[in-house]
Amino acid sequence: MNPNKYQRTPTPDLPNRQWPNNHLSKAPIWVSVDLRDGNQALANPMTVEQKLALWDQLVAMGFKTIEIGFPSASEPEFEFTRRLIEENRIPDDVTVQVLVQAREHLIARTYESLIGVNKAVIHVYNTTSIVQREKVFEKSKDEIKAMAVQGAKWVQEYAIKADQTHPGSEWVFQYSPESFSQTETDYAVEVCQAVMDVWQPTPDNKCILNLPATVESTSPNRFADQVEYFISHLPNRESALISIHTHNDRGCAVAAAELSLLAGADRIEGTLLGNGERTGNMDIVTLAMNLYSEGIDPQLDLSKPNDWIPVVEQVTQIKTHMRHPWVGEVVYTAYSGSHQDAIRKCLLKQDDNQKWNVAYLPIDPKDIGRDYEAIIRVNSQSGKAGSAFVLEQEYGLNLPKWIQIDFASTAQKLAEKQGGIVSHKDLYQAFTRHYGCDEKRIDVNNFQLKLDGEIEKLSLDVDGETWTGEGNGTISALCDAWQQRTGQNVDIIDYAEHAVHMNDDDSGKNAKAIAYFYLQVDNEKKVSVAIEKDSLSAMILAVLKGLKT
Ligand SMILES: [Zn+2]
Repeated sequence: MNPNKYQRTPTPDLPNRQWPNNHLSKAPIWVSVDLRDGNQALANPMTVEQKLALWDQLVAMGFKTIEIGFPSASEPEFEFTRRLIEENRIPDDVTVQVLVQAREHLIARTYESLIGVNKAVIHVYNTTSIVQREKVFEKSKDEIKAMAVQGAKWVQEYAIKADQTHPGSEWVFQYSPESFSQTETDYAVEVCQAVMDVWQPTPDNKCILNLPATVESTSPNRFADQVEYFISHLPNRESALISIHTHNDRGCAVAAAELSLLAGADRIEGTLLGNGERTGNMDIVTLAMNLYSEGIDPQLDLSKPNDWIPVVEQVTQIKTHMRHPWVGEVVYTAYSGSHQDAIRKCLLKQDDNQKWNVAYLPIDPKDIGRDYEAIIRVNSQSGKAGSAFVLEQEYGLNLPKWIQIDFASTAQKLAEKQGGIVSHKDLYQAFTRHYGCDEKRIDVNNFQLKLDGEIEKLSLDVDGETWTGEGNGTISALCDAWQQRTGQNVDIIDYAEHAVHMNDDDSGKNAKAIAYFYLQVDNEKKVSVAIEKDSLSAMILAVLKGLKT
């Protein structure tokens, strides 16, 4: 590698930049370019049917402007445009946008593709960057500006012609100085101003100036400088919507777009999940969710990724990375015990009436249709907190700390044996098996309890033998009965019991009770668990299990 081979992209000097002090308070105007830029980047471009499927999805998600393609470039692109119009697939509040080079016959063909449309954005562009001017087009600055002006004139002339032959369509003009990020910003202002001089936009009838980082070649802060410089030096800024179109060559397309909004941009072009040329377009999902996570309504419905991700994956043939920001399969999953423990504690304290404030979870996964089952997975790194969390969230078991510790090695062995993640069901089965909750090992009958003054007198048949004992409560009378029979001293170190709703196959939800006991029998510590129809039965059985096993 040889860093001397490369140079910094020049950006304007902006000592009084304002954007670092600004805050976002609302969503930008979103433009999906999935069907155009996204499609252009595919090894196998979308079929018309695939484009229609993606179009329906984009409309359903709430995009109000959708760039649909390059209708003058190929027959399928032309046909797709015609089908949207002729099959009345464009809702009244949705505007189609079409891209065209600044060449007369292509502009003429573009208007032909749009006959009968309610409203369309005609997006014309030519490249303005230094490298393209000097090496690709071999044209001077003035010649390149003349191309832009000529393109703007044709766009306007053919709009007038279209109105004469097929009146009733509304046209919005958009110009992109392509490769804006690698163009001298002063010169970009000069070219855009010349285009505005042709179009004569007003604050009520704005044109759109779209500033592309066709290739991302600076850090996001310097791109924001370029945008702020452009906006603050553009005469008639109030007659133009400033649009941003970033690519992800340096991995900062979202950051560059976000900072551009601080620098005053109004509108953002991008694609779902960032498909696009080379490293992709700006990912609209990420930027919209960034805003959402700070309490700003993104004005897009991203709540059902399980609906729209498969459509995007099907048409692009690109799988979504499991760690994709906000929507990747495992992004709300904590594998490590300390993270799981922190999440569990925060979720228990999270009140629906308060702002979301949970460690390691920047948003509530439920907002985008993820449930808590996906959050915590038990593996060999989870420790006791992970299994406690799952048993609590999924099965309603509030395990006392000493049960968590007692059960941890069983969960750990299960994870190691299964070589990775333990399913919630397997974990629950391991728990009930470990504590013998499903088997009737002890037979208890003829339970009787009489109060004699302060003293409870207990009598019951255990496995065919009659036990008697006394104490200041049922459990102490039971321990006394054991002591009388065996001579062993019994202490209750701690216990807990609570109601639990079991899912029985035949009767549906079924309320039962679970009891957990921590006993000391002579010098031996024992932990036992029982699930029974009521809390007294569960407690008696748990103690007996602790004593007899
Ligand atoms: Zn692009």
